[in-house]
Amino acid sequence: MLESPLTNVKGIGPKRAELFSQLGVCSVRDLLFRLPRDYLDYTKATPVVELVNGQNAAVQVRIDGATRFFRTKGITILSAPAQDETGKITLKWFNQPYRSSQLQIGEIVYACGRVIRKNGVSLINPSLSQALPGIVPVYPTVKGVNQRAWRDSILAALESVWDKIPEPLPRTLLERFSLVPLAVALRHAHFPFSREALELARRRLDFENTLLYFIIVELQKAERLRLNGFSFDTTGVLERFTAELSFSLTKAQMRVVDEIAEDMRKPVPMNRLLQGDVGSGKTAIAMYALCVAAANGKQGALLAPTEILAEQHAQNLTEIFGETVVLLKGSMKKAQRDAVLKRIADGSALFVIGTHALFSEDVRFYDLGCIVTDEQHRFGVRQRAAMLEKGTRPDMLVMSATPIPRTLALILYGDLDISVIDELPPGRKPVKTSVIRAGKREDMYRYIAEQAKEGVQSYVVCPAIEESDTIECPSVDAIYTELKKKLPETRIGKLHGQMKEAEKARVMHAFRAGETDVLVTTTVIEVGVHVPSACIMVIEGAERFGLSQLHQLRGRVGRSAKQAYCFLLYGVESEQENERMLTMTQTNDGFEIAQKDLLLRGPGDFIGTRQHGDDSAGLLSNTMDVKLLEEASRAAKEILQQGGEESARLIEIASERYGSMLGDIAMN
Ligand code: ADP
Ligand code: MG
Repeated sequence: MLESPLTNVKGIGPKRAELFSQLGVCSVRDLLFRLPRDYLDYTKATPVVELVNGQNAAVQVRIDGATRFFRTKGITILSAPAQDETGKITLKWFNQPYRSSQLQIGEIVYACGRVIRKNGVSLINPSLSQALPGIVPVYPTVKGVNQRAWRDSILAALESVWDKIPEPLPRTLLERFSLVPLAVALRHAHFPFSREALELARRRLDFENTLLYFIIVELQKAERLRLNGFSFDTTGVLERFTAELSFSLTKAQMRVVDEIAEDMRKPVPMNRLLQGDVGSGKTAIAMYALCVAAANGKQGALLAPTEILAEQHAQNLTEIFGETVVLLKGSMKKAQRDAVLKRIADGSALFVIGTHALFSEDVRFYDLGCIVTDEQHRFGVRQRAAMLEKGTRPDMLVMSATPIPRTLALILYGDLDISVIDELPPGRKPVKTSVIRAGKREDMYRYIAEQAKEGVQSYVVCPAIEESDTIECPSVDAIYTELKKKLPETRIGKLHGQMKEAEKARVMHAFRAGETDVLVTTTVIEVGVHVPSACIMVIEGAERFGLSQLHQLRGRVGRSAKQAYCFLLYGVESEQENERMLTMTQTNDGFEIAQKDLLLRGPGDFIGTRQHGDDSAGLLSNTMDVKLLEEASRAAKEILQQGGEESARLIEIASERYGSMLGDIAMN
């Protein structure tokens, strides 16, 4: 039943089914498991005086006067004055002129939407109703499927299979961990009647997913320990390697090099995670591992998440190892690509640097001994598994600049050994971070323009690429246009993920060469980019980023002996937001920041970090707490130890859901 096509559901015709299928939603199961990406809490009305800028809220107001229309830049804005006992508010709609017929002067309604406090209080694109809507699920917006269509479709799907949703977890587990049945959890995850019901539902779904995921992780680990890999000879490699470096390794780097050397000498394939704050010098470690492989006549691959980064690595390695280094990119012409593939296949390339392009099936190695993945969260577990298959049990090192609190890392990376670089190279000054209030924004940009004249470059990071008429969120396009106008003497560039690779490379090159002063960009810049002459980082809409991500972004500056600055701008003034931003101004320690993030937002961001790029991961949510993770981790180990019928059934379900992570490892 769960597998039936969507068109079997009442109200879903071929057209809507087609739109859903473009999102990978093809069956009733797919639809039911597409959980809302967020919820809006409209369970109570907030008095107008208490409304907080930037938040979503419900108000109960009387419509006070006639609606007014105006048009700017092709947008129709409709506004209506309203009030409750505590104050006045303007209801505002963009491109929804039909709303005017729904408003009657003197009528009392509930209006729910996003609050903007700027020249008075307004509510943006509010929905109107006679009763409070309660907790409203928010689904991804797609052309042709609006929120109502999502809700109607999911409700109809739920009803069509209501008593036929099979329960994957054994009753003993449900009872032991006080979990609600799957059918109930799905209903309440989509249509919660209270906060508590929603929490119970998410808890149940989270538990099931992590349990199944951990079962696979445990199996994978057991499998790895059973296999033999290559035992590398590391004699003399460190001496030859350090002789090529223009600096001496820090104590922390030396320690990690030792750990890696020991792993590589062992006959069990290395499976190590290297965590180190941005700028801590992970690249040198990666190069060392590749050198060990090369010294043993084996090939090493270095996977970078972006072409910009891959090029950077290739350039550095070529300076030292010359001809034996090749770079493979997705954007290469066929002839060029074929030439590179040939050198990978005949073994004349010992150092192979590449992006996702390396996963491609026609990339065949002569003898791949070691794989290093830079910024591992950009790659899925499955992609790494695909890479492992290109060698005969190669050693694997994954590197991450997102520090994960130790307790959490042990759970999430149960299958990996962990090394940490907890020291920055000497001579770095910590980035000075401050919060910029709206009133000081102009001054800040003037400062940036002045600094530009002195040769100091800046990044301006925005959470969105384009302007949207529904959410107020700083975008690359809007800020780029604004700065071009306001700072006519400053050379401004823009960069984002939707640009063509060649165009991105050109913009990045110009910035690196100092031909642009200010680079307006998205988080594409978050990953590994190294431009020492950029000393100022502005983050617009900082409330939209996790603390660890803000820290990552900030790590793009402060890469020279010159003092660097980070300016945070944010649109939501709440206690939690103020506290988050204060943390950023107070510490430069990535682990401390990660710990704070864990406290404030739960482990969801870190889990996302681990699973990015994995489509199997959609269900692990932000709401999960560390205790639940621990429980699921323990339960998974117990289930595997127990064996028996129940355990076999769970392993089967787990491998259906996450099994592709195991690559071709046989299941018993
Ligand atoms: P990340 O850990 O963020 O990848 P990188 O490896 O890019 O950091 O290193 C950042 C910068 O620090 C690079 O310019 C690198 O050459 C330099 N660096 C790395 N290790 C040292 C060291 N031990 N002493 C001085 N500079 C170093
Ligand atoms: Mg790096």
